[in-house]
Amino acid sequence: MHFSYFLLIKSHKKTIFRIDQSPYNISQQPILAYISGFIVKLDDMKPYVTRLLIVMLLPFAHITAQDKIPLLSGKVEISISQGTFECDLTLSNMPQIDDYFIRINSGMNILHMRSKKPNDFLVYYTKSLKDSLSTGESNAYYFSDNTGEGKFLPESIQFKYVGKYPVVKDTLQDYSVEDWKGNIAFNHNSTRSDGFQSAWYPILYNITNDKLFHKVTYDIELTCTDCTTLYINGNKPVKAQSYNFKSDIPRELTLFCGNYDFTSLNNTYFLNSGFTPDEIQEFGNLINSYKNFYVKNINIPFDQPVSFVQTSPVSKNNQWMFVSYPTIMSIGWQNGLKSVVDPYFRNFYQPFMAHELGHFYFGTHRVFNSELGDMMTEGFSEFLSLILTENIIGEDVFKEKVHEKIENLKDFNATPFGKIKSQSEYNNRQLYVYNYAPIIFLAIEKKIGEKQMWQWIHKILTTPTQFTDYDFLITTLQQTLTDTNKVNTLKTLYLESPKSLENAISTIGIK
Ligand SMILES: [Zn+2]
Repeated sequence: MHFSYFLLIKSHKKTIFRIDQSPYNISQQPILAYISGFIVKLDDMKPYVTRLLIVMLLPFAHITAQDKIPLLSGKVEISISQGTFECDLTLSNMPQIDDYFIRINSGMNILHMRSKKPNDFLVYYTKSLKDSLSTGESNAYYFSDNTGEGKFLPESIQFKYVGKYPVVKDTLQDYSVEDWKGNIAFNHNSTRSDGFQSAWYPILYNITNDKLFHKVTYDIELTCTDCTTLYINGNKPVKAQSYNFKSDIPRELTLFCGNYDFTSLNNTYFLNSGFTPDEIQEFGNLINSYKNFYVKNINIPFDQPVSFVQTSPVSKNNQWMFVSYPTIMSIGWQNGLKSVVDPYFRNFYQPFMAHELGHFYFGTHRVFNSELGDMMTEGFSEFLSLILTENIIGEDVFKEKVHEKIENLKDFNATPFGKIKSQSEYNNRQLYVYNYAPIIFLAIEKKIGEKQMWQWIHKILTTPTQFTDYDFLITTLQQTLTDTNKVNTLKTLYLESPKSLENAISTIGIK
């Protein structure tokens, strides 16, 4: 889901279908180079008195719990014809964090940031170029303390900013070369944005713990006078041009606002789906059967009704799905939601839907971090999709998908999980997380059996830990197998060996 790259799949008609797309490919380098072209340092004139006051207040703030969830409140005004965002948003109930960034989309121009609590004043901010784990769409801001060395974080900050984005009205002449998950996209009749990557609203990031606070509780008045329908993740869509959306459950603020219709079935919403009533029924049954398969095996309830969104990209050739629970978005010129139940396309689309539903567990129920977090989030979701495919969609589709991954990995020199020290060592992220990782997991499953594999997955999803790193993988494996020799065998074959991929392929026995 998150940092995600591409799953490139050649289908009929040469469509490129990607899941969980991120912007890396369109060149993260130029984005960084562009940012480094002007270094912003705004805190030179910060009044000494203000700094002193804040440092004095800090020790008290530290008493509060680390895992407080921020509340985002205020007003957002969007125009889908102008491609604009106008935001007056306040982040409050902030956890006190020593080393942090606040990410905001780099297309947003800041009027001001204002400390509201404990003291009310316009605050000087610094833009950092060191947010190395961001996906490239956002700027990273922080507030320096009075020593100039450390940072301070008010309990509550107001952010006022505006952004203007290209509106793609004509897909014959006037479109983008690329569209992706973290893009703030305005197509001919709507706008679509995720929260995590795009950071269209201010997102707090704890650098020390590698923890992002993209899920917030919220109380937001959203206005779009040229829309008929408004939708923010975690709420039902509404037919209105202005609406006060609230959620006490922390959500990523994925948006879809524009001129479109929606329908619902048993509390599940279908936005711009193009479904007939029969198709909704069929689609609903299918999704329930997938959810039930996961619940039965993983033994953790899938307790969220899901909202499905269908929309078109602002580029010609991109097509993908992404999840931001409880929203699953399908973006493409071909209607991906309808294709899930289309007899001709279903074998191609259904595994993608299974992958996205897998993210309810890997990425939502548990959020993964550290250098292997991205691999686990995507690798396990893809593994779940493969196992579901084998059991529900069809053995032949399963074999075809495994074969395809092995083909993709033909010339890939994979660093085993145990030797990865940073995400850059994935080498080719798309191959690593969507192809290599699920092949390794399939081999482990073959070796330890289905039952213990599901138990391991349960442990990974439920065992408390600060970092979901390699040690965590091994500890949970040891707890599952309770047999050090077996764990060592798995380490030797698949987790630490330079020949891990060959070993795994030979264990799986599919060519
Ligand atoms: Zn994914």
